[in-house]
Amino acid sequence: MSEEKLESLGSIPNINDIHAMFFDMDDTLVKYREPVLAGFESIREIVPEMKDNTAEEMEEQFRKLFTFDPVFRKEISYKDDVNARIGEILNSHGKNVSDAELKHFSGVFWRAFWKKRRMVDGAKDLLQMCKTKNIPVAIITNGNPQIQFRTMIRLRLHDFVDVILTPRNAEELKPNPLLFMKAMNLFNVGPEGVVMVGDSISSDIKGAINSGIVPIWFNNSKRNKPGDVEVAEVESFSELVNIIR
Ligand SMILES: [Mg+2]
Repeated sequence: MSEEKLESLGSIPNINDIHAMFFDMDDTLVKYREPVLAGFESIREIVPEMKDNTAEEMEEQFRKLFTFDPVFRKEISYKDDVNARIGEILNSHGKNVSDAELKHFSGVFWRAFWKKRRMVDGAKDLLQMCKTKNIPVAIITNGNPQIQFRTMIRLRLHDFVDVILTPRNAEELKPNPLLFMKAMNLFNVGPEGVVMVGDSISSDIKGAINSGIVPIWFNNSKRNKPGDVEVAEVESFSELVNIIR
């Protein structure tokens, strides 16, 4: 382990000094990219026009087509927005779909998505540890509320998570500190001894820094750390559990 990494890990408090733990949901506690890829893989299998494209390419297009505002302002439901994006991706590869076909393809997408929507390895162990130690746990997510609440129910996350906060207006989006402050108020704790674990530097880590709490970068996919951010970095939950206990 490099000296720099060792030094950054020093910012992570011991479990007995942690007053609350905040987590990002997508690709931190719960898999997101893998379920989306599975969704596109299952569409590829039944649409001959897509056979020369990879699920990764479709996922990238899917991400780029997302426009936050109309969904946020409820001009379009998240589900309809996903359908529209799937339709557009197929269209751009020469597959013109009828409404009925689109409905079928989006059904195929969501079935594959939910099948792979699982907890990230080791996440449950850390949540169990928090529960045993009576450390309150919040999920702070920029994700779509309907998807996130359904995820909570399907994965029985309420057994471990005290509160899930999703933004209701643009000001509450991470990295704005508002939702972090809200979670601290709910748990009646100050920033000291509060930890945020997340995979996104721009929303989770910057948000934690903006809120004065300890950021931990969950770098499960082994990306390069940007040079201008000082943050402790872990590659897995088992690594994090070993550090805090
Ligand atoms: Mg995330």
